Amino acid sequence: MNRFECDLVMDLLPRYIDQKTSDETTRFIEAHIETCAECHAMYEAMSSDVDVVKTTEAKPKRFHLNAIGKMALIVLGYLAFLIVALVIVTYIMANGVF
Ligand SMILES: [Zn+2]
Repeated sequence: MNRFECDLVMDLLPRYIDQKTSDETTRFIEAHIETCAECHAMYEAMSSDVDVVKTTEAKPKRFHLNAIGKMALIVLGYLAFLIVALVIVTYIMANGVF
């Protein structure tokens, strides 16, 4: 296998995975990957890396924020209820309704 082609494909793989290569470059890379085991393995590793980064970056953060957001809402709701109850009790006691 042509070493220059391999270097070229390795350089272009990140752009190819992001689908930023031109039609001609895309055809060249795909043809090379099919015939070159080394570059094919590199392509597999890089494209699965991108997937892993995407899923580990996006999902846990969203879940984390959602969990904190829900907790904050529950705590705030509970505190608001306590304050309202306290104000009502204090008002009733101060004005001697009972
Ligand atoms: Zn190659």
